[in-house]
Amino acid sequence: MARIAVAGFQHETNTFAPLKATLADFEQADAWPGLTEGAALFEAVKGINLPAAGFIEEAASLKHDLVPLLWCSAQPSAHVTRDAFETIAQRLIGRLARERSLEAVYLDLHGAMVAEHIDDADGDVLARVRAAIGPDVLLIASLDFHANVSSRMVQHADALVSFRSYPHVDMADTGARTAALLHDLLKTPARAKWHEALPFLMPLTSQCTLIEPLRSLMSTARNLERDPVVSLCLTPGFPAADVPECGPAVFGFAREADALERAARELAGAVLEREPEFGLELIDVEGATRLARDADIPRGRPIILADTQDNPGAGGNADTTSLLKALLAARVAGVLAGVIWDAACAERAHAAGQGATLELSLGAHAGFPGETPLVARFTVERVGDGRFIGTGPFYHGGRFELGPMALLRTGTVRIVVASRKQQAADGAMFRHVGAEPADARVLVLKSSVHFRADFGDLASRIVIVQAPGPNLADPARLPFRKLPPGKRLTPRRPSAQ
Ligand SMILES: [Zn+2]
Repeated sequence: MARIAVAGFQHETNTFAPLKATLADFEQADAWPGLTEGAALFEAVKGINLPAAGFIEEAASLKHDLVPLLWCSAQPSAHVTRDAFETIAQRLIGRLARERSLEAVYLDLHGAMVAEHIDDADGDVLARVRAAIGPDVLLIASLDFHANVSSRMVQHADALVSFRSYPHVDMADTGARTAALLHDLLKTPARAKWHEALPFLMPLTSQCTLIEPLRSLMSTARNLERDPVVSLCLTPGFPAADVPECGPAVFGFAREADALERAARELAGAVLEREPEFGLELIDVEGATRLARDADIPRGRPIILADTQDNPGAGGNADTTSLLKALLAARVAGVLAGVIWDAACAERAHAAGQGATLELSLGAHAGFPGETPLVARFTVERVGDGRFIGTGPFYHGGRFELGPMALLRTGTVRIVVASRKQQAADGAMFRHVGAEPADARVLVLKSSVHFRADFGDLASRIVIVQAPGPNLADPARLPFRKLPPGKRLTPRRPSAQ
């Protein structure tokens, strides 16, 4: 039995997005708990598809003694403010410094956090924890699939373990794998490390592990992770981050350096061989509207339009309206859209009450250039308090707190509105206000890939739409300044035969 400190500090930073993450954003609950310190942490994450939850359950079943420090996350956005980062990091280190006779520390990190004053914020957290515990206490962390893994992160950790799926249906499982690995490392450490940055950026929508090429590349990664290699990871990275170590990486930990190098090189080589397959397939607003209007769509099998560039799970604000306006103007039948972040409209809908009709100016409040609100008369079909439980594989068990919500109808379009922004990746977000996704003809989702976990089986067709928004689908359009020379902003095309 070992004494293991447990902490989590998660943020995915889109350095090109308009709004920063403040301390209040970390304190507030969304689908996941707000900032929680001490013993309350165990209850806060229990039963949720989160790495910390899986780690705690597995480590407890292995009879380890767990010391809860703190856990927090905020919605993806622009930089974490200096104040938020320093406040949380200092509380974490302060709690850690009070603990004696620890044998290990587990961190539930995202891996793509950028603070106003620190490009590699996760590397900084790991370095500060390492400085606090010294070289002999084990330090292990789980990471998101979208981690931009830096050499500094690898340097300060005894092991890192990343998700293997996107949609991330294995978050809790990754925590459990991390606990099992730590249990093993407490008996026999693994000193060899490897970290290799791959030379191109992978567009987010090409990173889905349900489709090729990552479906088979992830199974290659899984097969190569075998004794003496204790952890071998492929992270596609989070491309919307102007930091020197943005992008995909292969990294690992082992009890034998040569075996690790062989496995890591084989994995990196396999990815590079399939680089052209990571190219984008996008459709513009006009094309998507035409398709949605004219397609012969079977009942119960909606076509899904993924509004990826306004995905709040990647720094968007779930409030752009261009696609909705186009669908309305073309009188596309049976549209259900969500989830739009607009607290003022949700409040007015609640005040008016179910069945009321009122004029609203919906969305476009975050100030994305060129976007204007959708001004129309809406009928309030249903209202909800925004408290419900996630039922899909991604947000499974998440105790949502999205504030007042409403289902609004105008013309042929029904829109789910919430007071807090959250990626549309769970059917419960619609059913909470009485909208059944399967009944729609056209489902418009503010999501890039995570929606596939709960809506993918439903869809007769999925198209990725390039409507205006801050999460640019094509990394080549982002104004990078800090990437190293030679990094390809877009996957290389197949070479001409
Ligand atoms: Zn992710």
